[in-house]
Amino acid sequence: MTHPTALPHHATLDAIDRAHLIHPVSPWRTHEQRGPTVLASARGAWLTDANGHELLDAFAGLWCVNVGYGQESVVQAAAEQMRRLPYATGYFHFSSEPAIRLAQKLVQIAPASLTRVYLTLGGSEAVDAAVRFIVQYYNAIGKPSKKQFIALERGYHGSSSTGAGLTALPVFHRGFDLPLPTQHYIPSPNPYRHADGADPQALIAASVASLRAKVAELGADNVAAFFCEPIQGSGGVIVPPKGWLKAMRDAARELDILFVVDEVITGFGRTGPIFACEAEGVEPDLMTMAKGLTSGYVPMGATMMSEKVYAGIADGAPAGVPVGHGATYSAHPVSAAVALEVLRLYEEGGVLANGRRGAAHFAAGLDALRAHPLVGDARHRGLLGALELVSDKQGKRGFDPALGLADRIFAAGYRNGLVFRSFGDHILGFAPALTFTEDEFAQMFARLKKTLDEVLDAADVRAALAA
Ligand code: PLP
Repeated sequence: MTHPTALPHHATLDAIDRAHLIHPVSPWRTHEQRGPTVLASARGAWLTDANGHELLDAFAGLWCVNVGYGQESVVQAAAEQMRRLPYATGYFHFSSEPAIRLAQKLVQIAPASLTRVYLTLGGSEAVDAAVRFIVQYYNAIGKPSKKQFIALERGYHGSSSTGAGLTALPVFHRGFDLPLPTQHYIPSPNPYRHADGADPQALIAASVASLRAKVAELGADNVAAFFCEPIQGSGGVIVPPKGWLKAMRDAARELDILFVVDEVITGFGRTGPIFACEAEGVEPDLMTMAKGLTSGYVPMGATMMSEKVYAGIADGAPAGVPVGHGATYSAHPVSAAVALEVLRLYEEGGVLANGRRGAAHFAAGLDALRAHPLVGDARHRGLLGALELVSDKQGKRGFDPALGLADRIFAAGYRNGLVFRSFGDHILGFAPALTFTEDEFAQMFARLKKTLDEVLDAADVRAALAA
């Protein structure tokens, strides 16, 4: 039976999409053959596609719809702001009430070191702004040699022309002449794959040693900053041991380089606290955020900075000369109004508290799947988690990419009414809305188990396991 919200002309939409719409992070020619998966409507944790197929969204869109779909008060906040003042530039000295109130709110909830807010259109622009501000800062304070950036292998920091080089995932570099000569990486703190992974303290010490070694190699006078996600998302949900973020922060301070935390995924309750930094009392020099800030209802991100960085830039420019960075839609009043309502829902609406309760069900469901024949590792913090698939649990050997295992599991999951994400050929990622109910977690894991069992039944998968 067709769902009442199904789109009437799906076949036409399909053809137009194939002919004209370029999809982010897709193989373009493959997409023309395959066609789009058109989503039509959503409510709570549930999506309906253009064929009327209902899906439980275990990935909150793209790890962003933290408050769930269909929050009427968010729609109202946007509509009211559009009626009152749909646009106000943030340029020069113009401002708007929602942007001002949002800046104040973010300063209240962010780590205490961060007192200044630059509002962007999303995460990539927030990272790009952070890089631009850091370059400006070191020039302004008379240390122009500090221009080298260090990030983590398997990190993701968006796809702006500078951020994509801090990102350390091959498809974001291939053909784009990245990374830049100023961009460098140290190993990812991956407990499942790192040589010291079994011992949390040894893994933390190894990461700190790598940062020190990289700074020594580049010369401390040349290094501007270290960028990291508290939990690496698009790199495969890599959850470092507790204490890792703090140790890296302390090392960066000692090495006299700026410490930049990218909380685009981990922010806004995704890992439990409002920001992952909070769990370890970490106070970064700069922080980037997006996604959960507006829960994906409209685009917005932010770059926050410490008073030290702000003052360096502000006082470095000749009096009255603008800091030349901005966009038409910076500090957009509709996005800011939506963000304010989303932030209210996290706290007063009980969304954060619900997410914290849900984390126990999420953890139990993923941990139980560790025993599944396809699964080598289950990892999670808060409502951010992944399963890593292996053909040999002992040797942690992956599957032949030719099997296309993760994509097959994704397709089977979709047929079974479940959406999650596959990374490369061997990792499945999960990031449900913070509004998930106990029953939705039960449905999620029942559908996931069924999906894994179905794929395990395929002869070529069984053969790969036995080999
Ligand atoms: N930084 C991190 C950690 C991200 O996960 C992302 C997006 O997934 C970005 C930056 C880029 O954000 P956006 O996609 O909003 O440009």
